[in-house]
Amino acid sequence: MSPSDAPVTTPRVPAASGTPVVSARNVRKSFGDKEVLRDISFDVPEGGVTVVLGPSGSGKTTLLRALGGLERPDAGTITIGDASVDFAQLTPNRHGRLPRAQREQEDALAAQSGFVFQGHNLFAHKTTLDNITEGPIVVQGEDPQSARERAKALLEQVGLSEHADKYPFQLSGGQQQRVGIARALALRPSVVLFDEPTSALDPETVGEVLTVMRDLAEQRWTMVVVTHEIRFAREVADDVLFIDGGVVVERGAPEQVILEPQEPRTQAFLKRIL
Ligand code: ADP
Repeated sequence: MSPSDAPVTTPRVPAASGTPVVSARNVRKSFGDKEVLRDISFDVPEGGVTVVLGPSGSGKTTLLRALGGLERPDAGTITIGDASVDFAQLTPNRHGRLPRAQREQEDALAAQSGFVFQGHNLFAHKTTLDNITEGPIVVQGEDPQSARERAKALLEQVGLSEHADKYPFQLSGGQQQRVGIARALALRPSVVLFDEPTSALDPETVGEVLTVMRDLAEQRWTMVVVTHEIRFAREVADDVLFIDGGVVVERGAPEQVILEPQEPRTQAFLKRIL
């Protein structure tokens, strides 16, 4: 049975706890006086799915953006695959620019992840296929023919083969988001980072995106997912991080954190959203 035929409720075999693909150590980030991430540490093993839960404003997106190289922490170390940055060691000038060697280090870290945004963020004037091949060809220097072939296979994987030549405006929100996922996968990242990938979608298209994400989890993509989809978290996550006020309040297997939360803040949050 191919992953896309798998019933939505198929339980996953728990990920083997091997070497972490993602490791965050003592990550801190402030915006002005506001400390948004306060000493966050966690690991994601290869093939593992970590779901990040937490109330609005708790720092989830900032954490994900930090992992993806879209936000520079003030301190802490992030390691993804074979790239690592100790942020306390960086010496940005007053415009935030880094010396070249440090910039290359930061770029190498960013290149390890694929990011799926809340909104699809596709190029409006490019076809589905060109949206997917842009990163591999322009950023990674892949041969266009091979990039196109891989993009077609990815489109098949997300169930959109027949839409390769369409433009974003010709696709539904859920289809656009599936292109966004294919685009992230096309970069062959060590980890795929999802920032509330279904929160901007019409309710009827949420399921098709979650199904694609379940398939990826079954195929052992390493994933970090910020979402309010508790059922998805329960069924797909290997590990759940509950964040509040920029700290990890509770962490563990979904049946523990979601079904039997120990911390009052986790209990209160789950009560509100369930
Ligand atoms: P969540 O994803 O959990 O809703 P965020 O990480 O988006 O939380 O935001 C955490 C806090 O950081 C919020 O108070 C938000 O207003 C603030 N914040 C996020 N990004 C910025 C920014 N670029 N500048 C200033 N404040 C920010």
